[in-house]
Amino acid sequence: MRALIIGGAGFVGSHLCDFLLDKGHNVVCLDNLITGSLDNISHNLKNKRFKFIKHDISKPIKISGRIDMVLNFASPASPIDYSKYPIETLKVGSLGTLNALGIARAKKARFLMASTSEVYGDPKVSPQKESYWGNVNPIGLRSCYDESKRFSEALVMAYLRTHKIDTKIIRIFNTYGPRMRINDGRVVPNFIGQALKKIPFTIYGKGDQTRSFCYIDDLILGIYRVIISRIHGPVNLGNPSEFTMIELAKLVSGLCSVPLKLKYKPLPKDDPKIRRPDLSYAKAALKWYPKVDLKDGLIKTIEYFKYVQK
Ligand code: UDP
Repeated sequence: MRALIIGGAGFVGSHLCDFLLDKGHNVVCLDNLITGSLDNISHNLKNKRFKFIKHDISKPIKISGRIDMVLNFASPASPIDYSKYPIETLKVGSLGTLNALGIARAKKARFLMASTSEVYGDPKVSPQKESYWGNVNPIGLRSCYDESKRFSEALVMAYLRTHKIDTKIIRIFNTYGPRMRINDGRVVPNFIGQALKKIPFTIYGKGDQTRSFCYIDDLILGIYRVIISRIHGPVNLGNPSEFTMIELAKLVSGLCSVPLKLKYKPLPKDDPKIRRPDLSYAKAALKWYPKVDLKDGLIKTIEYFKYVQK
């Protein structure tokens, strides 16, 4: 098959390029490199089954030849990135998703939309099931991302209902691993970067807010199961083990053999207090469940950050 991976030079997109190439597929990777990086795909540039095109999907997409699947991973995704690029984030989720669906329709390809647990906002129920409609501030600092992904989901459902395209929506919960940018502002790269520099861990608020962290390899396997499945979703993909930020800091300090020193900073506005996926649907429909525990995944991620910092 020939896959179009949009946002293919980003953290998740680039791992998906590798995975589909390994499976023998051809990959066309589109990215405007706003937060993605050529470093993530440079090892594939000489592969004849891989093609990179620098393009902003907020503008119409033209690709020659057949495309069997369109996988849309394009968007700034860390709170620091989307606060820096709020308009680009809204454009890629709206115009970008529309253009991505347009090419899927023109090529008669199946379509996968990478949505996010952020559609649940600051959830009032835990764990979050796909049937939960969320608690999102439509005008808050995170709204450029949350609402753009919610709009993307609405667009995908409209294309499914109107044009009968085989669409799929995945809701990705916090994921970490190699190829995250050390300065992307998310908590895992922040803590590892701070540990490697032997400076205190920055804790926003009291540090009792929770997240559930999924290792990238588990996520990629889940995405692949969705691509080859008959389901349309939305389906949650993540890891259900929930940790407070203080617990995460303790774990990283232990693994990096540095003392646990904390520097408290104000909690960003609308920062969700809890987040944990209910994976019953993924388990039943895809026979998928994450396997890598946080400690093992962190060890691999720490190795990666040590390596790129050399
Ligand atoms: N956080 C923190 N210290 C940091 C970075 C983040 O305490 O240096 C907290 C942040 O307030 C949030 C959680 O860690 O509650 C996860 O933040 P992240 O940016 O990784 O992703 P989010 O799940 O909020 O999109």
